[in-house]
Amino acid sequence: MSNLEQTLSIIKPDAVERNLSNEIKKEFIKNDFQILKEKKIQISKIEAEEFYKIHQTKPFYNDLCDYLSSGPIIVMVLEKNSAVSENRKLMGATDPNKAEPGTLRKKYGISIDKNSVHGSDSVENAKIEIDFFFKN
Ligand code: UDP
Ligand code: MG
Repeated sequence: MSNLEQTLSIIKPDAVERNLSNEIKKEFIKNDFQILKEKKIQISKIEAEEFYKIHQTKPFYNDLCDYLSSGPIIVMVLEKNSAVSENRKLMGATDPNKAEPGTLRKKYGISIDKNSVHGSDSVENAKIEIDFFFKN
């Protein structure tokens, strides 16, 4: 049974800045994700606020939006069977210190805020996030 899904992945500023993008992209490919779309961009704080609006009541919201808009990012549409949960598994826990060995956040993350990658958390949010970056 196939359950082909698409999910949105972001290589965050801390990883782009450390030139880890190619290494991280290879990890996706090695784990059987297809990179259907990809672009390197820098977003504004207003765009970051829109992207992360589900977190607007959280204490870390302002810093998070400053951070995501602080430098270039790579946004990608990834495809695989169960892509949403498979990507979350590959990324590991939000806090790199709590992430499983072998996960992207364990390998590359610096801290809970500079945790190198974003991945959609549900099929529904994946659609919204893919549209946010790739509509038109
Ligand atoms: N974040 C943070 N402090 C926290 C929790 C989260 O800076 O205490 C940041 C972190 O970079 C995370 C992002 O906010 O990736 C979104 O949080 P979420 O809970 O959605 O984690 P994720 O889905 O990225 O694992
Ligand atoms: Mg999240």
